[in-house]
Amino acid sequence: MKKVRGILIGRMQPVHNGHMQIIDKILEEVDEIIIGIGSAQLSHSIKNPFTAGERIVMVSQALAERGVDPTRYYIIPMQDINFNALWVSHVKMLTPAFTKVYSGNHLVKQLFSEEGYDVKQPPLYDRLQLSGTEVRRRMIKNENWEELVPKATVNLINEINGVERIQNLSLKEISEYNNSYK
Ligand code: NAD
Repeated sequence: MKKVRGILIGRMQPVHNGHMQIIDKILEEVDEIIIGIGSAQLSHSIKNPFTAGERIVMVSQALAERGVDPTRYYIIPMQDINFNALWVSHVKMLTPAFTKVYSGNHLVKQLFSEEGYDVKQPPLYDRLQLSGTEVRRRMIKNENWEELVPKATVNLINEINGVERIQNLSLKEISEYNNSYK
C-alpha cells in the first residue's frame, strides 16, 4: 500500500520539546515523516548557532531517546535559496514524495499552499517557552534552558560546548555593535 508521508521543516536551532511533541502528533497521522533541517548553510550566529550536522545529530538522538521507529522518518538538511517562488521545487528535489505539509511558519504555509499542497497548522505547545529564541536567550543568560529540550539534546550541546559558543557569539555581536558607534 502507498505510504502517506508528511513533511515538517524547521531550523531546529536547537531542537526543543515543542518540535518533539509536534513530530509525535504528525506520526499519528502519517506513515512516515520527512524532517527538513532548514537554513542548513547557517551556523555560528546567535540566531543560528548550530551547524546542519549538529542539528541532524540532535534530531536523530532525540527521536531515538523517544523510541521513535527509525524506519518512519528521514532527516534531510536543506539550504535556503534566494528564490521563494522556486523553494517548494527545491524541497521536492531533496526529499521523497510527500502529500502533507505541517508548518506554523507563514511563508512556508503560503509557498506550499500556492503549489496545491494540503498544509496543516499544527497546534503550538507552550509557545512562550518552547521556542528556539527562548532556548537561546536562556543559554546566553545562564538560565535553565535544559528543561526546554530533550535530554539527548542537552548532552549533545554540552559535548560540543554549545553554551560557550552562543555566549561567545553574543559577546562578538555586542562588540561589533559598539564598534559601529565609535
Ligand atoms: P522553527 O524551528 O522555528 O519551527 C519549525 C516548525 O516547528 C514550525 O513550523 C512550527 O510549526 C513547529 N514548532 C515550533 N515551536 C513549536 C511549539 N512550541 N509547539 C509546536 N510546534 C512548534 O523553524 P522555521 O523558521 O519555521 O523553519 C522554516 C525554514 O524554512 C527556515 O530554515 C527557512 O529559512 C526555510 N525557508 C526557506 C525558504 C527559501 O530558501 N527561499 C523559503 C521559506 C522557508
